[in-house]
Formats: sequence, structure tokens, C-alpha cells
Amino acid sequence: MKEAIRKKLLSERANYKRAVEDSKKIAENFIKLPHLKQTKNILLYYPHKNEVDTRFIIEKLLKSGKFNLFLPKVHKNHLLPVKVSDLSGLKKGFAGIMEPEGEPFPPERLDLVVVPAVAFDLKGHRLGYGKGYYDRFLKKTGSLNVGVAYDFQVVDSLPSQEHDVPVDLIVTPTRIIKTKEDEKR
Ligand code: ADP
Ligand code: MG
Repeated sequence: MKEAIRKKLLSERANYKRAVEDSKKIAENFIKLPHLKQTKNILLYYPHKNEVDTRFIIEKLLKSGKFNLFLPKVHKNHLLPVKVSDLSGLKKGFAGIMEPEGEPFPPERLDLVVVPAVAFDLKGHRLGYGKGYYDRFLKKTGSLNVGVAYDFQVVDSLPSQEHDVPVDLIVTPTRIIKTKEDEKR
């Protein structure tokens, strides 16, 4: 069930032609989130394979000088947050994704995590690549979790299992979706 949806949406994403302009709009919407006022430590991801290009968000956040930014480094099937002060100096890591080098930061100290996905549903359920990295990682944080997605990646409903950790908000080029009634918002 998950696998069929994953395949369809990954193929759609690979061929999506408006990735750059949409990613810029997502960055504009993201930077306006009122939640950023209570936020200091942010984990983002480095884009690959036509994922939402978070470099536009990263540039805006770095320029503001108000935040500590982290990118994940994969170590033994786990994600470790490592601080970044610019996007140079990253190296190819697991699955060819660019990673920082340095000491890991405690996940429980992250205020906000920007989560990639193959798809989200309106309740914040997330379909990833099928390895459960973010499910394992988000169990360790008390963060506000923000999905970023092109509009076609947001579907009405996705199959969800006990171990799946949902996101609190989804930012698309056209919408900010609040996925549940939650004290974090
Ligand atoms: P994804 O979230 O990447 O789409 P799944 O939700 O299907 O993928 O998770 C893939 C696998 O990751 C699960 O079958 C499970 O074995 C593992 N997994 C997810 N969360 C946990 C967890 N908290 N502890 C241990 N294993 C987990
Ligand atoms: Mg999952």
C-alpha cells in the first residue's frame, strides 16, 4: 500500500518542472511562520533528487542571523544534527546526500525540524523513503515538526502505522496546513 503510493509520487516528483519556483515560494511562506519567534535551533535537510529545495530557506535563515542551523549526518542508521554556518564545506555522505562534519548536537535541544517526504496527508502523516529515519529521529526530539512539500505531494489520506511520527505543519507554495489541534501551535 505505502509502496505503490511512494512509487507513483516519486516518479511525479522526479519529473516535476516547477521545483525551483515552488521551492522559492515555500521559503517565503516558511520565513513568515509566527512559530519562528520562539525558535532558535532548527534542523533542516539538504535536498536531493528534486526534493523541495531547502537551500532557499537556509539562505534566508542564515542571513537573518537569528538561528542556529543544523543538517543531518547519517551515522549507523540514525540521523545526527550537526551545526552549519554556510553551505560550503559539506561532503557527500549516505545515499550521496551532502552532509556537514562536526560534533553532533543533542536532538532534544532542537526547537524545530524541517521534514522532507515523498508525501504528506492532511493529518500530517508522512510517507518517507521507507527506511523510517525520521520516525526514529523525531521520537527523540520535542520539536515542532514542519513538513515542506509541493502541492501535489499533499494528499487527503495516507496509510499510517503506530511508529509513524506526524508533522505539526505543512508548508507548500500556496498553503500552510495545520495538521492537528496541538498545544505546540
Ligand atoms: P518511512 O517513514 O520512511 O516512509 P516507514 O514508516 O514504512 O518508512 O518505516 C520503515 C521502517 O522503519 C519500519 O518498518 C520500521 O521497521 C522502522 N521504524 C520506524 N520507526 C521506528 C522506531 N521508532 N523504532 C524502530 N524502528 C522503526
Ligand atoms: Mg514512517
